[in-house]
Amino acid sequence: MKGSRTGPLLFLRFFFFHFRNPPRRFMNTPANNAAPSNVDQAELDKFSALASRWWDPESEFKPLHAINPLRLGWIQQHVGSLSGKRVVDVGCGGGILAESMAVAGADVTGIDLAEKSLKIARLHGLESGVKVDYRAVSAEDFAAQQAGQFDIVTCMEMLEHVPDPGSVVRACGELVKPGGWVFFSTLNRNPKSFLFAIVGAEYLLRLLPRGTHTYENFIKPSELAASARQAKLGVIDMTGLGYNPITDIYALSRDTSVNYLVATRREA
Ligand code: SAH
Repeated sequence: MKGSRTGPLLFLRFFFFHFRNPPRRFMNTPANNAAPSNVDQAELDKFSALASRWWDPESEFKPLHAINPLRLGWIQQHVGSLSGKRVVDVGCGGGILAESMAVAGADVTGIDLAEKSLKIARLHGLESGVKVDYRAVSAEDFAAQQAGQFDIVTCMEMLEHVPDPGSVVRACGELVKPGGWVFFSTLNRNPKSFLFAIVGAEYLLRLLPRGTHTYENFIKPSELAASARQAKLGVIDMTGLGYNPITDIYALSRDTSVNYLVATRREA
C-alpha cells in the first residue's frame, strides 16, 4: 500500500486536523442509523492488497503477530478461561486474533468486509486445523441478525478504519449478552500519537506501510468511552500498548497516549 502523502503535506494535515474542533468522528450519529453501510472502501482495499501476507510474521502484519499474545493474555485476564465461550471478532482480517482465541477453546466467529482477507483466513484455518467461522458481514448487519448471542466481542485495530466508529461500537454492544465483555483497541489522537504511530511507525521505522493510518481517524479514549457508555458498555479497564524500537519488544503499559486497549462490559 503506497502512501501518496509527502512529508510536508503530512505535517500540514496534522495541523489542520489536530486543531480543528470538533473532530469529524464521534459526532453522535443517531441510533439505528440506517445508512447502507459504514465502510470506507479505500480502507478495505488497503487490507485486500496485502491479504496474501496476513500469516507471514515478517510481513506488514508483523506488529499484529507481535502484539497478539499480549492482547490475548489481557483478554483472558478479564474473562478467565475462553473455553466454550462464544466470541465474535469484528474486523478479523486474516484471523490472527480469531484463531488464537479458538486455540484457547473459544467458539469463534470472525467477521470482516474484505473478502480476500477472509479467503486467506479460511485457507489458514484449513492448514492449521483451527476452526473459526468466517463471514463477510458488517458489524451492524451482524448485530441485527445475532443480537445478544455472544459472551465476548473483540474489535481490535479496526475502529480507526471506519467512517463511523460509534456505529461499530453500538453494534458490538448489541452483539454481546448482558454482562458479557467487549474489547476494543485503537490509536489515540494527539501530537505524540501522530509522531509515534505515523511518522515513527510508517516513515522512520517502517513497521507499517505508509498510509496505513490516517491521523484524523484516531480516537481519543474519552471519545471511545463516551461511545461505549451510549452502547450500554461500562469501561472496566484501559491499558496502553508500548513499543521499544531498540529491543523490538512490545509491552502493555500504563501509557495510553498512542496505542491502547479498552475492556468494557455490557450492562446486565
Ligand atoms: N482485528 C485484526 C485485523 C486488524 S486490521 C487484528 O487486530 O489482528 C483492520 C481490519 O479491519 C481489516 O481486516 C479490514 O478489512 C477491517 N475493516 C476495515 N473496515 C471495515 C468495516 N467497515 N467492516 C468490517 N471490517 C473492516
